[in-house]
This record gives sequence, structure tokens and C-alpha cells, in this order.
Amino acid sequence: MTGIRHTVETAESSLPEGAICLGTKEDIEKLGFKVLKFGTESEDAIALKTLGDKLLIVGSNPRSALFAAYRYLELLGANWLWPGEDGEILPKIDNAKVDSLDLEERASYAHRGVCIEGAVTPEVVVEFVDWMAKKRMNEFFLQFKTSRFFYNRYYARRYNPSAKSSPEITVDESLKSDAKVIEELKKRGMIVERVGHGWTCEAIGIEGLGWEVEKKPISEDQRALLALVKGRRELFGGIAVNTELCYSNAKAFESLVNHVVQYAIDHPEVDMLHFWLSDGMNNHCECESCKKLSPSDWYVKLVNAVSSRLGEVGCKTKVVFLCYANTLWAPEKEKVDDHYKNTVFMFAPISRCYFHPLGDERCSSPEPLKPMPRNEIVPPRTNREFVQLLKGWQKILQSDSFLFDYHFWSRFGLDFLGGDIEKVLWNDLRDLNKLGFNGFLSCQTLRSFYPTGIPMAILAETLWNNCTSIEKIRERYLKAAFGKDAPFISGYLEKIYSFVDSEKNYSHLDAIKGLVSNKVQELLEFVKESRPRLERMARDLKGNACEKSAFYLLHHNEYVSLVLEAFAYYLKGEREKALKSIDNAINFLLSTEEDIFKVADVYIMSNELNELSSRIRLG
Ligand SMILES: [Zn+2]
Ligand SMILES: [Zn+2]
Repeated sequence: MTGIRHTVETAESSLPEGAICLGTKEDIEKLGFKVLKFGTESEDAIALKTLGDKLLIVGSNPRSALFAAYRYLELLGANWLWPGEDGEILPKIDNAKVDSLDLEERASYAHRGVCIEGAVTPEVVVEFVDWMAKKRMNEFFLQFKTSRFFYNRYYARRYNPSAKSSPEITVDESLKSDAKVIEELKKRGMIVERVGHGWTCEAIGIEGLGWEVEKKPISEDQRALLALVKGRRELFGGIAVNTELCYSNAKAFESLVNHVVQYAIDHPEVDMLHFWLSDGMNNHCECESCKKLSPSDWYVKLVNAVSSRLGEVGCKTKVVFLCYANTLWAPEKEKVDDHYKNTVFMFAPISRCYFHPLGDERCSSPEPLKPMPRNEIVPPRTNREFVQLLKGWQKILQSDSFLFDYHFWSRFGLDFLGGDIEKVLWNDLRDLNKLGFNGFLSCQTLRSFYPTGIPMAILAETLWNNCTSIEKIRERYLKAAFGKDAPFISGYLEKIYSFVDSEKNYSHLDAIKGLVSNKVQELLEFVKESRPRLERMARDLKGNACEKSAFYLLHHNEYVSLVLEAFAYYLKGEREKALKSIDNAINFLLSTEEDIFKVADVYIMSNELNELSSRIRLG
């Protein structure tokens, strides 16, 4: 940023004059300085301190030392709007400020992570991990034993027939890509999380690396271990990872426990191993012996078996288990024993409402929440009910825990129709302590910086410091990306993202049912009128990241116009024209995927638009 070349050397006992010294708390203490009150090997904290003519950049552990260095660059004006060099802003400055710095920060939450979803390439993942470190996030989760499913989703491009597809990669190739991601995580001292679903079938020799329908026949020995559902033991819906086992069958129970334990022992690079059951629902075994316990009771028995076996053999891997689908209701008899302090509970309210924060009690259903019979679960859609389920689990466990949530998954594809997701996310992150969580793992596409990276900045910055105001995060981002046009863009985005008024939407009308004709027309005109100014900005703004920021907004302006046009036709009763406009919006996204590849997951967005089409078609 200054253009000055500095000499880099390792200090042994004393520091040269005018040195900028970077290291861990332990390193710095060896040199005789005590600067960081907070933080331990596992707890992230940083300090930037001027001492005489020297500047100390200190972290509580190696990754925090890296966070501290990025924090320093941030104070000098650096910004990372989205992953990769083209999202980086490094302003030219004459001198790097080293005097009168006195800053100490400690992460508000221990778990600040992201879980792979969407259609992504290994290169996207590597760049994303680098962005995370720059934004002081510390955990990354690669789903399944290898994340091939997500890579191949992009390579095959079945969602985008107009694009050139690439050959799908094999399991071996995919494992190599994962290894590269893990290497990048380790290089930065970040925490590696892995697997999740897939154990139930892998444990009995059936591949479980994605949600594909299993084509190979299963053996009779395997069949005997599967859950009995509606009188049959078979793969649930034909999909292996959606299938449960007959847990009262000792062979099934032991096979599963042994398989997970062995994997943990064989993979010391995995710090947190997600031990989830199937990704199906209402698919638990209905045999007489299994029926004696609820799905959650069986699950806790399995979790206790895995975690105690790992503790006994001295394996340091943490076991992550979850409240989700079949296990929404807490166990009735079992308790999580956490004898070796190696379990982590995660709460995954996948069908929750995103118009309102999770802790918003007004977001509720008129139907009281009550336990549902085995295999007849209908998950809640409102947040008060989810919090009740959470409290049920919290009564029977002492484990460390985090919220696993989906703000940037299908909700990302809904864009402005999904309400003000920035605000909901910010509130959710601030409420984590109150809800009893020690952090957050965002299950999301990694191409999630469209039309701006503000929501992702909110994710990272609020997890680091839950007292940061949303206005401050927005303002800093907008200023870096759009300079003097920042106030205009701020108002422009606010108008678009207040299209759905969540305050007035406790009856939870969806994007179509809640449409109001004059509001659609008004926003459509506003979006079109704003276009010339966006075009001017795209011409005038200099610097790669700023030019691209303006381009992404222009692109988004076109996209929003097409969706609003569809609604305008729909409200006039011209359904065919409405469907045509949605098609135009889909084609616009698909045909320009390369232009917005880095920031927008067109796979997820086109899925949501297709869904919208079906709803319009059905009236
Ligand atoms: Zn059974
Ligand atoms: Zn709600």
C-alpha cells in the first residue's frame, strides 16, 4: 500500500529500531512484552500496540496473529469485498501508521464458520477460505467424506444447458481437491470440519457422497440392517444418504459407531467431525425393538457411544451432533453425557422463517407445538416454535454448541423477495448468546456476494464483534466500493430490500401472496430510473473492485426489473406474460453466469426462479 519494501527477519531476543513485530502472545512474551490480556490457544484475540518506536501485532494463537495482521491492514484502509484479488481494495498511502495504536479485541464467539453448499469449484473454495481468514472467521466445513457433489454440480452445469460443461471429477480427484482446501485451512491455523450426512450408508458399505439415487443393487445382508419403514427395508426414496438403519440391531449400531470412530482415528486432520444421521425425514425404523425409543434417543445413544470411544482412545477430534428433521424433539430418556468434553451440539432450523429473527417471539404459529408420532413429523415454519425445540435439547446437554443456519442458501436465491436478510442475519448473530449458542456455522453457497458483499461482511464482522453496528459495516463497505456514490447506493439498496415489509408480515405471506400492485409498479419505476446513474458509475469508477462492484449492481438492476415486470403482469392477470418475464430473468442469469461467476450462485438463483414460475403457473 505504501510501495515501501520492508526487511523481514525473525527476532530472537530483541527487536530492531522502528520494527513492526508480528507474532503470537507467546512469541512476544519471549521478547519481554506483555500486551494481550485475552485469548488462549483456542480462543481468538488480537492486539495492535505501539510501544515507543515499535508496533506489536499480536494474536493469542497462530491464526489470531494472522487475523491481527489483516486487522492492521484494515485499519490502513484495506478491504476485501469478495474472495480473490479482484475483490481486494488496497488504497495507496504514503506511510503506514505505526504510532498511537492501542487496540485489543477478543472474538465474540468461538465458532465463526461456513459450510460448503451450492455449485462451486475447488478454486472458489480456496479463495473463499482466504477471504474468511481476512475477515477473522475460523472454521470451514467440507460436507461428506469428499465434497465432490458440490464441485460436480458446477462442472456438470445441469442447471445451465447453455453453458459449456466440464467433465465430472472422480472421488480420487475430488479428495485431492479437498486435500488442497484442508492444506489452505491448516496454513492459516483454521479449524477443519468434515462429513455430516452419509455415515448411515457408508457404515454398511453403500456410497454416501451426495443425494444421488443409488443405482447399484444392495445385498440382503445390507438390507437386513436398514430401517423398516412402511413394512419394507430399502433405501429411502432410493437415496442412500437419506436412509436410516435399524439401530436396535446390534450389528447396525456397532457398524455405525465403529465406522465413525475409525474415520476419526484415520483422519487426524479433521478437528470437528460431524456425525449426523440421514438427510431424510420420517424414515426411522418401525420395528418393535426400535419403536421403544424415539429417534432422538437412538441418536444420543449413538453419539454417546462414539464420543466415549474416541475419548477412551485419546482421539482429540470433537464430535458434532444436531437437532434437525427427525431429531427436532429432544430425547425422552437419554442424556448427552459428554464425559470427555468432546461433543458439540448444533441446532439446524432449516424450515424456519427468515422474514424474522430466530429470537423473535412474534414469529409464531397459532397451533401449539406438541410432540409428533414417529415418522409423522411436520417441522415448524415459525421461529418461536424452533426456540422451544432448542430449549428442550438444552435441558439434556452441557455440550459446547452453535447455530447452523441457512441465510445464504435457497434464501440467497430469493434475493429482494426474501425480505431484509441483512438485518435478520445481524439480529440472529447478536442473539446467539441469549439463545445459548457459542457461535454460528453458515450453510451456504460460497458464491454469495451479489449484488454486494454487505451481508457476508455482516456475517464475518458481527461474529467477530457482536457490538458492531449494522450501519457501520454497511457504511465502510459502501464507501470502499462506491466512494462518493455510497449514500446513493445505500438508499437504492434499502428501497429494493424493503420491498417485503417483515414488520407487517407476521401472517407470513410469501412473495406472491403479499404482492401489492402500486408497490410493484413504484419499485419497478424506481429501479429503472436508477439505471442511468448506475451506468454512469460503472463508467466513472476506477479500480478493479470498484468497477466490478458497479457492474454487479447494474446486472442486478436488470435482474430485479425482469422479476418485477413478471409481477406487474401477474397482478394484471396476464399469467403467460408473467411466466415469460420469469423465463427472461432465468435466461438472463444463465446466459451471463460467467460475468457474475465469482459473486452469484446461478444454480441456486435459477432454482428459486423456477419455483416462482411453478407457483405462478398454479395461480
Ligand atoms: Zn429397527
Ligand atoms: Zn416469521
